Amino acid sequence: MNFLDMFRSKPRQCTSCRDISPGLHCVYSGLRRGSITDQLCTNCLISRLGAEIRGKGILFIEPLTTDGYCYFPFGEVGNQGLSQDRVRLALSSLAPTCADCSSEPHHLWMPLRDLDESAMQKQTRGDYYSIPSEPACWRDTVSLCDGHAAARLRDYIERKRYFFLTFRFPEGGDSGYYS
Ligand SMILES: [Zn+2]
Ligand SMILES: [Zn+2]
Repeated sequence: MNFLDMFRSKPRQCTSCRDISPGLHCVYSGLRRGSITDQLCTNCLISRLGAEIRGKGILFIEPLTTDGYCYFPFGEVGNQGLSQDRVRLALSSLAPTCADCSSEPHHLWMPLRDLDESAMQKQTRGDYYSIPSEPACWRDTVSLCDGHAAARLRDYIERKRYFFLTFRFPEGGDSGYYS
């Protein structure tokens, strides 16, 4: 492979806006498996996310890695139990207004430092992140409107220079969580 081919071999063109991006997020359809539907730049990812979370209530757990950031709807088999109870509790403790504007919030952004570390160490494979059992334990979790929840993820992606290898837009359920 010559020098020019090395450049040509890696087109990083967003499948939505066609702009060239330093990286792309791989969007998959379906809840599991599914297939890759788009490779999006951060702008397109965030603007579509802002539209797709409308009408839902979602707990966004700060992404731990670039491997994936996926939505888990409630009511799905295999996604019952502790995580679900705690997410519901979290979403029932939304602040009266968005942390970044005066709109009514429907989502929460939970930083990793708010997760229950001792419970994380005890969890077995297949369990999920340990969302604290008491709203008083989540000090840095903020309530956000649709636009500001999407903006929070944008800030995070840009700060970390993240490009997700797997990203799934919310499908199914009127509430759930992202992790
Ligand atoms: Zn784009
Ligand atoms: Zn807002």
